[in-house]
Amino acid sequence: MHLIGHLINGQSVSDHVRTQSVYNPATGQAIKDVALAGQQTVEQAIAAAEQAFPEWRKTPVIKRARVMFRFKELLEKNADNICRLIGEEHGKILHDAAGELQRGLENVEYACGAPELLKGEHSRNVGPGIDSWSEFQPLGVVAGITPFNFPAMVPLWMYPMAIVCGNCFVLKPSERDPSATLFIASLLKEAGLPDGVMNVVNGDKEAVDTLLHDPRIQAVSFVGSTPIAEYIYSTAAANGKRCQALGGAKNHAIVMPDADLDNVVNSLLGAAFGSSGERCMALSVAVAVGDDIADRLVERMQAEIQTLKVGAYSDTQNDFGPVITRQHQQKVVAYIDSAEEQGATVVVDGRQLQPKGYEEGFFVGATLIDRVTPEMTSYKEEIFGPVLQVVRVQSMEQAMQLINDHEYGNGTCIYTRDGEASRYFSDHILVGMVGVNVPLPVPVAYHSFGGWKRSLFGDLNAYGPDGVRFYTRRKTITQRWPSANLREGAQFSMPTLN
Ligand code: NAD
Repeated sequence: MHLIGHLINGQSVSDHVRTQSVYNPATGQAIKDVALAGQQTVEQAIAAAEQAFPEWRKTPVIKRARVMFRFKELLEKNADNICRLIGEEHGKILHDAAGELQRGLENVEYACGAPELLKGEHSRNVGPGIDSWSEFQPLGVVAGITPFNFPAMVPLWMYPMAIVCGNCFVLKPSERDPSATLFIASLLKEAGLPDGVMNVVNGDKEAVDTLLHDPRIQAVSFVGSTPIAEYIYSTAAANGKRCQALGGAKNHAIVMPDADLDNVVNSLLGAAFGSSGERCMALSVAVAVGDDIADRLVERMQAEIQTLKVGAYSDTQNDFGPVITRQHQQKVVAYIDSAEEQGATVVVDGRQLQPKGYEEGFFVGATLIDRVTPEMTSYKEEIFGPVLQVVRVQSMEQAMQLINDHEYGNGTCIYTRDGEASRYFSDHILVGMVGVNVPLPVPVAYHSFGGWKRSLFGDLNAYGPDGVRFYTRRKTITQRWPSANLREGAQFSMPTLN
């Protein structure tokens, strides 16, 4: 069976000590093995990055940006292959994979602007004959640890900006669907990136822990589930590293009585079930304000869900594919079971779905659950599957209270025609990314991405302007070239201009 290895110092490397199967989730078959890097292999990658850093750091920023321009072209040229690799191992349909890649690529486009982004700040004559400026210097060797659900996009949130800022990078992708991530990183060599600047180690906890404890790693970007994000953040911080750790989510959509129901139904279908609900911005809870809109919403959704097509990635007629593993399929089904046991109404039940020809695949059909309450396990925890739950409340205040009380604060949306209500909502809701009649308010590449509460540990969001700040450190230089007529005697009070 094909063994997926690592990319270290521009070379493909494999260590065979430990491996893990990679599945095609549509067929349920193991199709490849992935090498799980041990401490020594990870240290080799860190050493390669450390060695490449002095030269790369002093490479003029315009030359670093040119690598990104070529990288963007290569991503476009190889898009079909990348989407196929994503589909094979993740299961998402080709049109969805193409969307993911495009959103990732936009981060490369933003990184192409590094000469402008890194110009710094300058003030002349802050004192007699004194100029002062701030520059943004690279950190050194930085690491990224990424989840399975966006094998192209989430790594592209991280390393293009890190690299163009002058850092060297070690990436640890998800071991469940590593091929697209590895292939994309390998294109950087063709784009002209010197060996060692970008390295990929596949692996699991052992590889991650090595990165977290190695003193040569200056900063860690993590995206994944909340318990692991919290562990990464606290361990990285205890080891003196800068860290941004993005975690899980429970994204609510408030459906107001005056909402445009056609827009609500269409956009909820895509936002709840697209990518099998395996998106950290998936809308998994619809909070209907009033029983009238709740009844109409449930009736319309029930009818529309019957028309959804679920199957393998390669058939672009399909709306979504399987979930990632057998274990995850069982977990999603268990959440639906628990909601039913705890008194909710399963209106559309996807638990038994087996698409023809893919009976062994890890499928869960689109599921709609009504009359969910905040005490239920399926409400409190992230399901990460194609399950939309409806909670009924009687006022907008109650709906907002629910959202503000939830442990997660990644994304949210309000559907309404009322500008005053939407303005109040976006002003007071305790969530990092807010949509108004927009179901997946994922910020574009020139803004930054991040949730509130237990959806993000750290100060700076991912990519965009915060990405530049995360991957650089500010140095402020104050300079005077004393001339004879400006010389002062010794001064013992704090220097001021008074
Ligand atoms: P995960 O937390 O299981 O894994 C993420 C990464 O952490 C992987 O590279 C994995 O190898 C590593 N890891 C797993 N267990 C570890 C451990 N015990 N110690 C050290 N490292 C470990 O997440 P996943 O299942 O791959 O991805 C789905 C989760 O990611 C969901 O919770 C989803 O909401 C979240 N996610 C969040 C965002 C965001 O931007 N907030 C984006 C995408 C996904």
